[in-house]
Amino acid sequence: MDAVAAAQVLSEIGYLLRQNEAERFRAKAFAAAAWSIVISRPDLEALQKTNALTSVEGVGPGIAKVLAGLIETGQSTYLDRLRVEMGQPARDDESQIDLSQYKGDVHSHTKWSDGKATMLEMAQGARAMHYQYLGITDHSPRITVVHGLGAERLLEQSREMADVQSKVADVTLFQGIEVDILEDGSLDLPDAVLELLDIVIASPHVKLRQEPAAMTERMLRAVSNPHVDVIGHPTGRRPGSRPGADYDFELVFREAAKNQVALEIDCDPARMDLSPEMARLALECGCNFTMDADAHAPIEFAYVPMAAWMARRAGIPQDRILNFLDVDELTAALQ
Ligand SMILES: [Zn+2]
Ligand SMILES: [Zn+2]
Repeated sequence: MDAVAAAQVLSEIGYLLRQNEAERFRAKAFAAAAWSIVISRPDLEALQKTNALTSVEGVGPGIAKVLAGLIETGQSTYLDRLRVEMGQPARDDESQIDLSQYKGDVHSHTKWSDGKATMLEMAQGARAMHYQYLGITDHSPRITVVHGLGAERLLEQSREMADVQSKVADVTLFQGIEVDILEDGSLDLPDAVLELLDIVIASPHVKLRQEPAAMTERMLRAVSNPHVDVIGHPTGRRPGSRPGADYDFELVFREAAKNQVALEIDCDPARMDLSPEMARLALECGCNFTMDADAHAPIEFAYVPMAAWMARRAGIPQDRILNFLDVDELTAALQ
């Protein structure tokens, strides 16, 4: 069992435990251990042999025991039991996701807004992951706390991008924006700006507690904007701290499918949005998907396998996920 597969199991355990308020702390511990492992990718079998699993950051004796079982048998009886208890048993239609075919992230941030790294560092990070492409999608102006980008700064950013592109020629950079979906469903930048960008991710960030009817109208309007390519973290939920928006998901997902707007499985540990259950609904509504780390630093590209287990549990075939398209296919899909 490699570190990535083990991290996926721990992540799913944390995810399931979180649905039970009494297990909140244990859920957090499993999630923290999962993300620590997916980032550091330790040699778990070697550690197991020397009884040193607890030397991995975030792994205490309880989690080490689960890991030991996993390493020995390739299975987790604890996960199997939790799946049954939570009414989410393994299903026959779970898909195969082959991460070696993954081509790149389309949602990432740089120091132009709230990222912790420069565009050059992010591009180099994408190259280290052997990505074919990277979408640079900083925030729009409404998110003032992070110094969101309007038309003028986007133009400045495009100059820097040309320079970075010349230095990291083997990763195609897409200039995009993570544009805020305003309360009435309009977007935080005019169409004339959006149409110049390679990729537009529209995300709900504020006023998520709107009445479901108003929230449904808001989301319907967003998925109907012809410039929108992806809806970022479509519910805005934060597992363990806030439930996320409530709207007529089926209606909005069907409209997204009709307009070829993809829905994101954002595997930022604070989000995990869409959840596997919601993603399954979106699949049934005919949607395409993106998997994204929503990386704010190069190290966060390592999160992607977490989106993979979520997509697998949702039964999403790999060919419905944009990140498995090669650069030419993706460019065509984003037209
Ligand atoms: Zn966002
Ligand atoms: Zn983002």
